[in-house]
Amino acid sequence: MLVVQKYGGTSVADADRIRHVAGRVIKRIKAGDQVVVVVSAMGNTTDELIDLALSVSPDPDPRELDMLLSTGEQMSVALVAMALRALGQEAVGLTANQAGIYTRAQYGSGRIARVEADRVRAELAAGRVPIIAGFQGTTDDQEIVTLGRGASDTTAVALAIALGAERCENCKDVEGVYTADPRIVPTARRLKDITYEEMLELASQGSQVMHNRAVELASVYNLPVLVTSSMVDAPGTLIHGESELEERNRVRGIAHDSDVAKITVRRVPDRPGIAANIFEPLANAGISVDTIVQNASEGHLTDLSFTLSRGDLRKAESLMPGICESVGSPEYTADANLGKVSIVGVGIQTAHGYAARMFRTLFDAGINIELISTSEIRLTCIIAADRVNDAVRALHDAFELERAE
Ligand code: ASP
Ligand code: MG
Repeated sequence: MLVVQKYGGTSVADADRIRHVAGRVIKRIKAGDQVVVVVSAMGNTTDELIDLALSVSPDPDPRELDMLLSTGEQMSVALVAMALRALGQEAVGLTANQAGIYTRAQYGSGRIARVEADRVRAELAAGRVPIIAGFQGTTDDQEIVTLGRGASDTTAVALAIALGAERCENCKDVEGVYTADPRIVPTARRLKDITYEEMLELASQGSQVMHNRAVELASVYNLPVLVTSSMVDAPGTLIHGESELEERNRVRGIAHDSDVAKITVRRVPDRPGIAANIFEPLANAGISVDTIVQNASEGHLTDLSFTLSRGDLRKAESLMPGICESVGSPEYTADANLGKVSIVGVGIQTAHGYAARMFRTLFDAGINIELISTSEIRLTCIIAADRVNDAVRALHDAFELERAE
């Protein structure tokens, strides 16, 4: 079968690991598969390059920043290709331009517009393993554009789709997707498989397994993605479209995020247009708002709360006095030390008892719920940041996630 394997920064962090990756690729080819490799920059290279840019300019030019950042992945492809050749396997390192990964000119946040994979196919046909730089694209004018932090995953998925690969393999320093963060819950269990929707909820709720856009893209094209280890031979977790209909336990995992702030706009007159007046200035300032709760109004006055990431709180607070004035609110309050914990699983909304069990579990652990939000496959509680780990452990226990599937 034809597979696209993506190796992240940790998996190619030094010479030993690069040689290890080369060995794995060769093993795979010997087993009869065709392999295309996508790599990230070594270790913390991207962060180091950003620091370097900031050391010469407080506000680096976006075009030149992308010129610089794209070199991290270019180093990796060259080194992986060399390591393969040293082991007797023909290979060729390719930049995004050489591999035909096209984007529009949005420096720092390019989106892949199309992949022209002829060169990659030709290299494969000639018996050379194509090693492709992740995280970068080229415009029609040969400008180099990066795709956003962590976006090598997206490069790999886009290439797999363009090549008609059987699947994409995301080879990482973890062995798959777990029922909760194993650093918090030692008994967390690796999932055999998970649906795209569940993976998206887990990821956007703060589980750092895979780039969201990569999962979205895989979902649109129904491309199976295996999240697996680059270090040891492990079965991994398959992200795909199916889920067993009669899943015994509908909760697949617990996601958490300790980086949440909340703003409450107090005593807002309850009339049309208020929400727009509050959220438009925030959106215009590039602040994304997460959970929004408007309380029932009492005497035509209502409290409106929303959450945002802690890093955006200062910027948001600088806008709040103006916003309060424009909607006729006397004051707002802000809380910087919140977090969120979610249970995720297809069918939890329609099945009985999941919400009740979640709330009961948090109550029994003495954890106060500030806000609640739901989606079709997720139930999220906003709680104090310093209770997030306790909540994750208590919920993992309550939903019996350590038990084998
Ligand atoms: N090297 C880039 C980053 O650190 C892309 C990636 O790792 O996927 O964000
Ligand atoms: Mg990286």
